[in-house]
Amino acid sequence: MQVGVLALQGDFREHLNALAQCGVQGVEIRTPAELDKIDALIIPGGESTTIVSLAKTFDVFEQIKKRIADGMPTYGSCAGMIMLADHIVAAKDGQETFGGIDITVRRNAFGRQVDSFESDISAPAISKSPIHAIFIRAPWVEKVGKSVEVLASYEGSDGASHPVAVRQGHLLATAFHPEITDDFSVHRYFLEKVCS
Ligand code: GLN
Repeated sequence: MQVGVLALQGDFREHLNALAQCGVQGVEIRTPAELDKIDALIIPGGESTTIVSLAKTFDVFEQIKKRIADGMPTYGSCAGMIMLADHIVAAKDGQETFGGIDITVRRNAFGRQVDSFESDISAPAISKSPIHAIFIRAPWVEKVGKSVEVLASYEGSDGASHPVAVRQGHLLATAFHPEITDDFSVHRYFLEKVCS
């Protein structure tokens, strides 16, 4: 199985490193031809509005959207979660996504860059031990559709618990960044459970 990491912007190198730690040699994806060769995709953290505009410039936006709709296993962290959401709030005017997961995410829900934080969260389907989660201008999930499985939640500043890791069949998304920790259980879960 060939796993690609969308390498237009954001922390794609950290995802490649996480894959390598799981024994998988990932490939950087920037062109339609590179996209044709992969079986699964990771969309990194970064800035979703920039990822959209670069995906259009590099002519891969529609192709990625179609591959996702056709069943390509895909994992998105943070900005990648936003890219996989069917709906966004606090979006930039007219901001598009690849979509695929029946969720509404709120961009920058946990606050601005200065409000970034780390916490251990429980996600029993992914790992028996708590996952060390790093949130950086992170979104949270405000609404989930019937076919979405919530894998982890976290309490926001509004005092309510919000999903921060979700799965819908072949699609996985986290509001946090496992790729910048040395806990690769989310990547292992993606490779072993979502891609199989
Ligand atoms: N707030 C960013 C966005 O809207 C996501 C931040 C991140 O990926 N760390 O795309």
